[in-house]
Amino acid sequence: MTTETERQVYLDYSATTPVKEEVLAEMLPYFTSSFGNPSSLYTVGQKSKNAISRAREQVAALIGAEPTEVFFTSSGTEADNWAVIETAMWKRGKGRHIITTAIEHHALLHSCEYLEKEGFDVTYLHVDKDGFIDLDELKKQVRDDTTLISIMFANNEIGSIQPVAEIAEIAKARGVLFHTDAVQALGNVPIDVKALGVDMLSVSAHKIYGPKGVGALYIRKGVNLPTHIHGGGQESKKRAGTENLTGIVGFGKAAELSGQNLEHHAKTLLSLRTYFLERVQAEIPDIRINGSLENRLPGNLNITFKYIEGEAILLLLDMNGIAVSTGSACSSASLTPSHVLDAIGVPVEEIHGSIRFTIGDFTTKDDLDYTVEKLKAAVEKLRKISSVSKDSGF
Ligand SMILES: *Cc1c(COP(=O)(O)O)cnc(C)c1O
Repeated sequence: MTTETERQVYLDYSATTPVKEEVLAEMLPYFTSSFGNPSSLYTVGQKSKNAISRAREQVAALIGAEPTEVFFTSSGTEADNWAVIETAMWKRGKGRHIITTAIEHHALLHSCEYLEKEGFDVTYLHVDKDGFIDLDELKKQVRDDTTLISIMFANNEIGSIQPVAEIAEIAKARGVLFHTDAVQALGNVPIDVKALGVDMLSVSAHKIYGPKGVGALYIRKGVNLPTHIHGGGQESKKRAGTENLTGIVGFGKAAELSGQNLEHHAKTLLSLRTYFLERVQAEIPDIRINGSLENRLPGNLNITFKYIEGEAILLLLDMNGIAVSTGSACSSASLTPSHVLDAIGVPVEEIHGSIRFTIGDFTTKDDLDYTVEKLKAAVEKLRKISSVSKDSGF
């Protein structure tokens, strides 16, 4: 896309984040001078092994886990697949029923669809107009043959944060395992796996200013989740393959920085979001805010601009160097309307006019002022040319 300006404003932190300088600096030696295989017994190998141990401690500390409960994977997606598919297979002697929600990330939904093809029964809980599940409904859906509840911690499109501790309690009372996809929650919401009582939890480095291609699955001690990748002895023989050394080191550092900064980060993002929303509300008519503003990720906003197409807004903003998304990054390449906005009851024509703005650590007030100005112009321009289709009832 050709840009009319040099200015770059990134407002898609839920899609991915830049690697922080401190994180990159920590990673670099492990590409070149300190490249040993962590499984090798000589010194340079042991150095790599120690670096992985340190990273495991850093990630464990951010979620309140023991380091031995953290298993590195290639992504949040892989962690989700592992938790859901391996639990289903492992527990199929007890039953073949799984409970999840209609608003999960595709890493979870498509794993469940795969299981359905394999003869499993999946219940997709509804959410209300604000994006929250109903705990009583969850209680009602648990059956004797239910083996797993998998409900995301925070949603990637509308930011809704589910009552994770309460869900864990319901699962525990019924002897059902509970997994949560905490990829979006990590670094934005305090997470303490012990206090919450979760059995498994997925995280990913690239959403918290770490590198892409590395994630982790927390597996509570005592939950003997089967091996996911067979091979060497890496990751306590549960997930074989020579470790992504640089990625894991970067994840560790990103987790450490995130833990030091969490409260300030969340407060800053929330105040920037409030500022942005107030300006948009004051200056652009006919909008709709999707999802509740309470119990929501601090940097997330999802807004429908009525009568126009989100894709068209996205392209006009992109021409001004502003990056936003329509729905989730994975579905934005297709024209399928967002399953999340659909689940909270946004009418289909309004789903097509929705934009997700996600604010992060490098966002400034000035960036948001610039965005409001360009957004306002884009919306006005598109509404002018769409007036025909609007009147024709689109
Ligand atoms: C980004 C994301 C994932 C996938 O993580 P990757 O590391 O990109 O595979 C899973 N779940 C949620 C909620 C996400 O936002």
